[in-house]
Amino acid sequence: MAAGVPAETAAVKCVVCRLGESRPGKTTVVLQRGGATVVINDVPAQVCENCGEEYVDESVAEKVLAAAEASARAGVRVEIRDYVAA
Ligand SMILES: [Zn+2]
Repeated sequence: MAAGVPAETAAVKCVVCRLGESRPGKTTVVLQRGGATVVINDVPAQVCENCGEEYVDESVAEKVLAAAEASARAGVRVEIRDYVAA
């Protein structure tokens, strides 16, 4: 639902502290799904330079969620993986 927003949106004001601007960075996402704990490293995110709040793109979040659900279905209890852009 980001119609009209340019793909390469440069700096966006942080909605948490309203002071900092977010910059492209990486974060680690931890998800729990059906008894599985999935840790995904190197997830692309926008990180606030002031308070450190991380904003993960909706399409990225969907991939991360799908990966966690696939692991849960496979019976994985704990998994640590790197984010892979599909
Ligand atoms: Zn902030």
